[in-house]
Amino acid sequence: MLSYTEENYIKAIYKLSQEGDGAVNTNAIAEVMQTKAASVSDMLRRLNDKEIINYVKYRGVTLTEAGRKTALQLVRKHRLWEVFLVDKLKFNWDEVHEVAEELEHITSELMIRRLDEFLGYPKYDPHGDPIPTEDGLMTMKQQVLLSELEPGQAGIVMGVKDSQPLFLQHLDKIGIYLGAKIKVTDKVEYDNSLEINLDNKKQLSLSAEVSKNIFVSA
Ligand SMILES: [Zn+2]
Repeated sequence: MLSYTEENYIKAIYKLSQEGDGAVNTNAIAEVMQTKAASVSDMLRRLNDKEIINYVKYRGVTLTEAGRKTALQLVRKHRLWEVFLVDKLKFNWDEVHEVAEELEHITSELMIRRLDEFLGYPKYDPHGDPIPTEDGLMTMKQQVLLSELEPGQAGIVMGVKDSQPLFLQHLDKIGIYLGAKIKVTDKVEYDNSLEINLDNKKQLSLSAEVSKNIFVSA
């Protein structure tokens, strides 16, 4: 059995290992977990003893195969719960992450299997992120950041890189949602902001900050 805190560390290490390549360093983990490097070291020793990670002092951390499986199951539960909250309980997409952070720690495998079935085996969560299967497989999408499109190119919104509530609320406000059609009509060289056409209807101006956090179909 793993504690909630141990599970949160495993998720943080998994996420950091996806972003960089190779071993994750203790300071990066301390930053994500918002704690001191000393507490991180204690936890890493504990996870090392449980054979969840390989921890070599001053060299950083990698997940073992068991650790990777645990991380993927946590991601699976988190994302399935997010689908449940949006599709069945009518939460908005900016409201689900915090709740799913709690629900992901429920350990009943049977319940998660039934939840998956109840939801119709969704492949993506409400932010467009892939949901691992029970075997840890994910269906990756062909996607690029909106900021990489050139004038004249178009794509369908597939997901968001930043799923913070403030960003999602902003997208709601300007009418951008998963499945929306975006055509880039102009790019301002000065600040890399984009002029876009949304759903063949309205013309919008997007800052570089916004466009580099939206994934569109490649
Ligand atoms: Zn989430």
